[in-house]
Amino acid sequence: MNRVFEMKKKLMDILACPVCKHHPLELNVTKEDAKEVLEGTIRCEKCNVDYPIEEGIPNMLPPESRGQ
Ligand SMILES: [Zn+2]
Repeated sequence: MNRVFEMKKKLMDILACPVCKHHPLELNVTKEDAKEVLEGTIRCEKCNVDYPIEEGIPNMLPPESRGQ
């Protein structure tokens, strides 16, 4: 598995909303280990959108690009 994009909390320092460029985003962790966030959401309060984190990978695609 490619771990380049593993979801470390430090990523929150650089992640901005892909739609409105809002920063910082709000991290909600539902599952984590000692090194990284495994599952949760990254929330843009301006767009009122949650970007999912699955298996340590943040999905920062704009909602309209996900194919609903
Ligand atoms: Zn936004």
